[in-house]
Amino acid sequence: MPAEQAMEFALDHATLRSFVPVAPDGHFPIQNLPYGVFQRQADDVPRIGVAIGDLILDLSVLAERGLLADAALARALGPGQTTLNAFMALGVESWRKARARLTQLLRADERTLRDDRSLRDKALVTRAAVRMLLPACIENYTDFYSSREHATNVGVMLRGADNALMPNWLHLPVAYHGRASSIVPSGVDIVRPCGQARPDDAAPPVFGPSRFLDFELEMGFFIGPGNELGRPIPIGRAAEHVFGMVLVNDWSARDIQKWEYQPLGPFLAKNFATSISCWVVPLEALAPFRVAGPKQEPAPFPYLRSPGDWSYDIHLEVRLQAASQAEPQTICRTNARHLYWNVCQQVAHHSVGGCNLRTGDLLATGTISGPDPGSYGSMLELAWKGTKPLRLGNGESRVNLHDGDRVTLTGWCQGDGYRVGFGETTAQVLPAVEPVET
Ligand code: CA
Repeated sequence: MPAEQAMEFALDHATLRSFVPVAPDGHFPIQNLPYGVFQRQADDVPRIGVAIGDLILDLSVLAERGLLADAALARALGPGQTTLNAFMALGVESWRKARARLTQLLRADERTLRDDRSLRDKALVTRAAVRMLLPACIENYTDFYSSREHATNVGVMLRGADNALMPNWLHLPVAYHGRASSIVPSGVDIVRPCGQARPDDAAPPVFGPSRFLDFELEMGFFIGPGNELGRPIPIGRAAEHVFGMVLVNDWSARDIQKWEYQPLGPFLAKNFATSISCWVVPLEALAPFRVAGPKQEPAPFPYLRSPGDWSYDIHLEVRLQAASQAEPQTICRTNARHLYWNVCQQVAHHSVGGCNLRTGDLLATGTISGPDPGSYGSMLELAWKGTKPLRLGNGESRVNLHDGDRVTLTGWCQGDGYRVGFGETTAQVLPAVEPVET
């Protein structure tokens, strides 16, 4: 867009207001409009909604009233849809159309919804009163390893400072295929996994509850339209395949990981649970917060050369609350802009061998660590492999997660007088369950 037009857009964007009140630090102003799936009551059918302030706009009501832009959108967002997959599959032009229509309906100067009391009563629901579900049917989950600071920290701990980054790391976005079935929405608590570990290298392995449970602060993004098997996605088209982003906590059992990971990578250390936030923030809402990523040296292969700036300025925090604490305390502050490999590069790399991405697939960035010790995105790094225990306000300390600990991730983009936020993903650690014969 030409500079003058861009300036106009920026001004208009920042001053846009909804008739639904939103505090300046609220995560869901009219500039955001994230999509989610909710139930009004426990036995109610799931519906698709959009978060606005403390409310949810129920899109099934709008579809029934013929208020969405066209029949295709009404089908994809209306009654009977229990996930966002059908909408995600429609592609970027339909997403733009839906967003423009919803923005129009929620504007402070638009009367359709604002002045129709009975419609408002039906279509707007209090966010705190509903149950949130997974936003998509997730068939596949891939976890990258795209933060240079995180990869370096882990490398220093495992191999020393001289060999911190593996030789492949600066050439390709490293990843593993994760487990989709154990992805859970925010609010679902996490059972400590059991497994094998070998705490003493001179003794045999042991079995039992993990003794080094950890969190990993990550972002994830959902695939919209997929690609055909055998047809790689060129990097210049990669963004058209990305619907939106969520927060991801890749729960990790470090002791299990250390014993099992060679030679094929993580398995039980990661597959017991992955938490995600419930509101999917569209890429379009994040567009004003795109920034240049870190300089990439050596230059990547042409198939990985990013078209323009595809990093995002997203402030991220991790809060920990021990069972004995009244309030959570912030233990990490970082930013998604630190990521070395960006979303487009991850999509291009994932598909370059011909792998078919499918609508609703979740791709996560990997742990996001910044340059300072307070910006490390895992307990492993914050407590530096157990050597620098994290002091809690109540006098306790942590080098790993205890039963009863609650971990909450949150994040937002800071606009001029508003925030485009992700809400949070939160879960408590429950005691391990050993296998029992029944
Ligand atoms: Ca991870």
